[in-house]
Amino acid sequence: MKTLLSLLFSVSFFSPAVAGTVAVYHTSDVHGWYSARAVKGSTRTIGGFAALSSLLKTEKNPYLLLDSGDMFQGTPEGNYTRGMASIVLMNKLGYSAADVGNHDYDYGEDNLKVLIASAAFPMLGANVYYKDSGKHADYLKPYIIVEKGGERIAILGIAGKHTATSTLPSNVKHLNFGDEAAETAKWMKEILTKRPDAVVILAHIGLGSGSGQKLDISTFAFSDSEAAYGTIPVARAARGAAVVLGGHNHAGSLKGYTDKGSNTLIGESFWGLTDVTKVSLNFDDSTGKFKSATAELIPLWVDKTGEDQEITALIKDFSREVDVIMDKPLGESAVDLGHSKDGLDSPIGNWFTDAMRRQSGTDIALQNSAGIRSDMKKGVIRMRDIYQVMPFENTLVKLTMTGDQIKRLISENMSGGRAKLQVSGITVRFKTEPFELTVEKDGRELKPDEKLTVATNNYLTTGGTGGKVFGEAEKSEDTMQPIRDLLVKDISERPVKELPVPGRLVRLD
Ligand SMILES: [Zn+2]
Repeated sequence: MKTLLSLLFSVSFFSPAVAGTVAVYHTSDVHGWYSARAVKGSTRTIGGFAALSSLLKTEKNPYLLLDSGDMFQGTPEGNYTRGMASIVLMNKLGYSAADVGNHDYDYGEDNLKVLIASAAFPMLGANVYYKDSGKHADYLKPYIIVEKGGERIAILGIAGKHTATSTLPSNVKHLNFGDEAAETAKWMKEILTKRPDAVVILAHIGLGSGSGQKLDISTFAFSDSEAAYGTIPVARAARGAAVVLGGHNHAGSLKGYTDKGSNTLIGESFWGLTDVTKVSLNFDDSTGKFKSATAELIPLWVDKTGEDQEITALIKDFSREVDVIMDKPLGESAVDLGHSKDGLDSPIGNWFTDAMRRQSGTDIALQNSAGIRSDMKKGVIRMRDIYQVMPFENTLVKLTMTGDQIKRLISENMSGGRAKLQVSGITVRFKTEPFELTVEKDGRELKPDEKLTVATNNYLTTGGTGGKVFGEAEKSEDTMQPIRDLLVKDISERPVKELPVPGRLVRLD
């Protein structure tokens, strides 16, 4: 304990000597959602950088602002500016560092380098290496040490190993994404020689399998198998990090989770900038060493936070440019096209794949469910709606495949009774215990050797999640035509009058 005199002395003459508490504000998976938006069934609006900026202005302690990646991909403003709108806004809010997410590679490595050159903060990625030379990717920093409130805080950034296939694989084929936990252990050795007062790890991976929901998991008991991947092994490999702030899973943890194996606090900040995690790093008054950490997920309700008008104006500048294009009416839908909750076929997936099939003239169409990013509400359909459904620059690939290949492809894309692919032109019936699956076309089962033409996207055919069988196709042609353009053309030509035929993915048990 300090004496009152020394405390007064240090505060009044050498302040800020010891902070007591340093706040860490953490965002992740913003995906280009810069502005506040309406909430279903409520008159309130939530989220955005103007609300976050306003909240930060009320913080009394010294603070750091950090992000765990996937900054821009997902909105017209994010995509049209190829991420630059994110960088401008993050500069303005005063971010200290951001961790590289898989989607930050969506416009290629050169575009990412342009973004980094414009960023007033470093982009981190300790485990990203060039395959040929084995050298660390020099445009990313492994870690930084910043001083806040008299405390030296190290920030280590870990990319997801999944990045190899969770952006367009050809964008990162020359890169090696090292094992998250092993790389954490490696870099922590170096970091600890520099004797920081606390270590914060940013990771573009989540906790366990991830829920995509906001939950209080503070008392949750993860099983050994759930603790075997994601941020828990990172926390354990770090041996002494104060906090690990994850991402990618789009989950939000209301009070954080303290891993029993490492006593490290793990936080997750949801996605779309509706929420921010506030971590309080508490330091010992006398030694200045890290003592404890707590976390809280704060929803950015605009009626509570207010909005920083300077930030609102900045966002408007970006929006004005794209609004003209995005607000253009293309067509109409008489029905809501939503996602499925049971992991089978969905109205939006059925429309999406039907449109792909109609526009490409193939027998069947396949699209990864996870790549359909938004629902489509009934009414006038504008360019903006199509962008939100399909923000990616994926292109149409036409293939010739056998019945056997199609069957194996669909089987390999089933997981726990859920289908990873949405389909058009076929009906899939399956049982999970034991696993059995049939693929039918026009009411009869596909013959193993019959040939069909298939429309899909280049993300899947170039090695994206679960698409290895595509490599066996007899013919494969990347048309270089963006999938989004097919959807735009289809909705312009053909209004949606009713729900597309359901029951394409049928679970029998
Ligand atoms: Zn991600």
